[in-house]
Amino acid sequence: MTMLEHATAARGPVQPTDGARSTLDPLPLNAVRLRPAGLLGRWQDRNATETLPHCVDQLEADGALANLRRTPGDGTPHRGMWFSDSDVYKTMEAIAWRLATGDGDNGLRETFDALTGLLESAQEADGYLDSFYQHNKPDHARWRELAGSHELYCAGHLIQAAVAANHAGIGARLLPLARRFADLIVDKFGPQGDNAVCGHPEIETALVELFRVTGYRPYLETARCFIDRRGHGLLPTGAFGAGYFQDHLPVREATEATGHAVRQVYLLAGVVDVAVETGDETLLAAAERLWESLFESKTYITGAHGSRHRDEAIGDPYELPPDRAYAETCAAIGSFQWNWRLLLATGKHRYADEMERVLYNGIAVATALDGRHFFYSNPLHLRTGHDGSGEDAPSQRLSWYSCACCPPNLARLVGSLQAYVATSDASGLQIHLYGSSDIEDDHGRSVEIETRYPWDADVSMTVTSRSAQPWTLALRVPGWCDAFTVRVDGQFMEAAAVDGYVRLTRAWSGERVDLHLAMPARLVAAHPRVDAVRGCVALARGPLVYSVEHADLRGDVVLEDVVLDTGVPLNVVDNGEESVIPVALSAVGRIVKPASSALYPSYEQAASGSADTPITLTAVPYFLWGNRTPGPMRVWIPVAAR
Ligand SMILES: [Zn+2]
Repeated sequence: MTMLEHATAARGPVQPTDGARSTLDPLPLNAVRLRPAGLLGRWQDRNATETLPHCVDQLEADGALANLRRTPGDGTPHRGMWFSDSDVYKTMEAIAWRLATGDGDNGLRETFDALTGLLESAQEADGYLDSFYQHNKPDHARWRELAGSHELYCAGHLIQAAVAANHAGIGARLLPLARRFADLIVDKFGPQGDNAVCGHPEIETALVELFRVTGYRPYLETARCFIDRRGHGLLPTGAFGAGYFQDHLPVREATEATGHAVRQVYLLAGVVDVAVETGDETLLAAAERLWESLFESKTYITGAHGSRHRDEAIGDPYELPPDRAYAETCAAIGSFQWNWRLLLATGKHRYADEMERVLYNGIAVATALDGRHFFYSNPLHLRTGHDGSGEDAPSQRLSWYSCACCPPNLARLVGSLQAYVATSDASGLQIHLYGSSDIEDDHGRSVEIETRYPWDADVSMTVTSRSAQPWTLALRVPGWCDAFTVRVDGQFMEAAAVDGYVRLTRAWSGERVDLHLAMPARLVAAHPRVDAVRGCVALARGPLVYSVEHADLRGDVVLEDVVLDTGVPLNVVDNGEESVIPVALSAVGRIVKPASSALYPSYEQAASGSADTPITLTAVPYFLWGNRTPGPMRVWIPVAAR
């Protein structure tokens, strides 16, 4: 357990103060180590060895660094998006999380220091830093185009990178740099400042975390101002209306999650942060109310959000088309981070359930097995004949995007993944995400977890303690799990899940706890108002949503002609950990050739019958689709007529 010996006060991405109105405490970042043999640890390893170096290379190749190297009057054009600075900051945050674990440097420290130096030379004397506005806009444009400028959005990512660097012990230069900018923002927009907000939330959550690190209350007060000012028409309505910016109603009065999906979930992350640090119950209640709006009728089965390409928006209740799903990776990441804040604030299992769902589906799908190709939008159905040439809805993961928000966002999330596994409170430890890992909190309470989860239903734990005092180990029983058993040293326990957790209390001294979360393959239906998938079912097992992919069909079979025979039980096919598809599902279906090939035949003609051919179907985890021969895929499968 060497990692525990060098465990320091390194903190994870969210660290409420002692005075915060919070239910659960995050563990120090180094209190959890994901074992590389497990799926989560494997993702984190791949992130460090492939995704992170790839992001660093792309910052150079794509011009994001060149943008920051420009000097006044040098005439070099800006390359890429006007908010490309944020790609640099997110990558720096990812480097910081990697270095915080002490698991190998690989030149990353040098890269980090060079990037810090670049920012030092780019920053204005008054603290302002935005490569696009400094060189492409006249001076008087600064802060005057907040609806679309992303100046405060970029500042937020800079601050988060600096906070992560501080936790990692490498922020001696970056934290003061970020504070100079934050102080300028407090002067300009704080309680005594301009009555204005940024079109893209992000600064709110960042300022709260900076307050948590520095104890400097004006950062928190400024974050609160930004949240209180929203919904008062301070932003222009633009082409998509005020709801696009969540500026149509004050947060406390809003009843529907709406507008641009990433903006909505980023805003709500900041709302929870401000609520817990100021003890504002109405603000927390608003976040929980909007969570219900989002998760009761506006969430894909993969945990993703956003059904509209046009404005990257959430859409109406039950507007969840699988083929035109936008489901941006950043919205899935933002949802994960927001749910984590709600979990810490309330301890409610529903938030951990959603973290798990979106992590294994809506987030995991975005990265290819090589760690160097990514989805921006994550459809649940790629049609046969899809025009996937444009990057708006590509048919394959791409190595980078002109709007490159998602890949470095993945890098910073996966780089800090261990922070989200478990929490503590006065009663003991709570395990929320299962994966092979070693956990030890500040009180010497430790759990070693050995499991093939989510491929396998068994989670084995060895529980020890430095003290002889009894404490409670709380184990989450996921919402999808209908049957579970718990054994302690082989003895079955009469344990019920209360509020989503089974709780075991004793003076732990090396007992073995075996949790079995029964995960048979299952069929999932959608609410009938989700018209787009009416008459379809999805296949799932444990936390994983499955999909049928063209790679497993005979070449002449059109995926859209395949229907599922729900009368035949599904089989679980274990191919072993080293397979591209470790666990597949096998099902029976039919290939349907309709009676008429007309686009709109008469109802009578269509109902007159079709020629069916039986077929054995293989379903693969949704997050792994597109890693073999590229081709069509679908999650929702039409049910065969009996
Ligand atoms: Zn994105």
